Amino acid sequence: MQENHNALGVATGHKPTQPVTLVRPHAAHRAARYFLEKFPGTSMYAVKANPSPDLIRALWDAGITHFDVASIAEVRLVRGLLPTAVLCFMHPVKGQEAIAEAYHDHDVRTFSLDSLTELAKIVDATSTDDVAAADLTLCVRLRVSSAHSKLSLASKFGIAADESAELLMATRQAADALGICFHVGSQAMSPQAYAEALAQVRTAIVGAGVTVDVVDVGGGFPSIYPGMEPTALDGYFEVIHRAYEALPISYSAELWCEPGRALSAEYASVLVRVEARKDDILYINDGAYGSLFDAAHVAWRFPVAMVREIPSRARTMEFSFYGPTCDDMDFMRGPFELPADIQAGDYIEVGMLGAYGSAMRTGFNGFTAGATVIARDEPMDSAYGVVETSPSKVISIR
Ligand SMILES: *Cc1c(COP(=O)(O)O)cnc(C)c1O
Repeated sequence: MQENHNALGVATGHKPTQPVTLVRPHAAHRAARYFLEKFPGTSMYAVKANPSPDLIRALWDAGITHFDVASIAEVRLVRGLLPTAVLCFMHPVKGQEAIAEAYHDHDVRTFSLDSLTELAKIVDATSTDDVAAADLTLCVRLRVSSAHSKLSLASKFGIAADESAELLMATRQAADALGICFHVGSQAMSPQAYAEALAQVRTAIVGAGVTVDVVDVGGGFPSIYPGMEPTALDGYFEVIHRAYEALPISYSAELWCEPGRALSAEYASVLVRVEARKDDILYINDGAYGSLFDAAHVAWRFPVAMVREIPSRARTMEFSFYGPTCDDMDFMRGPFELPADIQAGDYIEVGMLGAYGSAMRTGFNGFTAGATVIARDEPMDSAYGVVETSPSKVISIR
């Protein structure tokens, strides 16, 4: 069933009792085109940010052909949707069976690693009748600083550049193509993060004296949230390009990136209902175990707007949210700026939830997602173009 609505129409016409996800394929398309046209290399999509098949197809339709997958379930998902996509298994610690299935059944040829034991595992799992695979692209994951990022990825994976020579040389022996990859942490607020990481790549290459075929600068490209307004992404690309061009690598080497957040954040928002109000706390029907995991666990501030037939003329004030489960941890501190007269029964649109929103949803305590609808309006903010100011929202319900 296709119907046209505005966001208000969904709220007033349907009075949804469960959170409604509003998806914007056009926003994902625009983000993909930006990376494809401006990033000076190959742009992959990091599937973990949002594994929705509709989004994966929208990115493919926009021209994204490479996907960073981190689990065998993600490998199967993307391979099932896109038989000819290039899949890169970029989790540095994998099960032997996952590597074997990815290589032998799903045509995965690119893997990351950060230790000699993982290298041995990959070589073993990809060989056929004891003959080693001759078509592997193996990317050694360096540990780099997350100092410029809002979410650290600096402790769990990666080998220090000045300790990586042995691993790089051993990987060079096993690989058809040798790569070096890293992740500067999610929501990197300065392009300097990449310049510093690429300096580590230089240290690693010089230390090992190996020929490198791929430099993969990972994810971390920021989106726009309240209080987090980074400079334009093409400025990041310029810094990366300059540092990459200065590396001691051959002319035929390739530059890759793996954005998750930047390609998906603007894709979705969630329409929630206020179930109760106590002073400056709103009890809403989505939360820490739903699409607001980051709002609860790392106090991420998402943009919000009240959705009411006659717009409020009240001044705004700062609210915190409780989610629907019976758990004290289901708390989103915010602050979220909303009209002071908001009350039970009002609806709120929470924006920029395409990345690490629905991907984190559980069914804990019986609270699950409601409908998904396609919205034709603009996301609440955009790193890629003009955002309209009027809240006219044309939506088709599936
Ligand atoms: C999570 C992750 C990404 C995506 O990171 P974003 O910050 O969402 O861009 C890319 N590569 C790897 C290896 C990751 O673990």
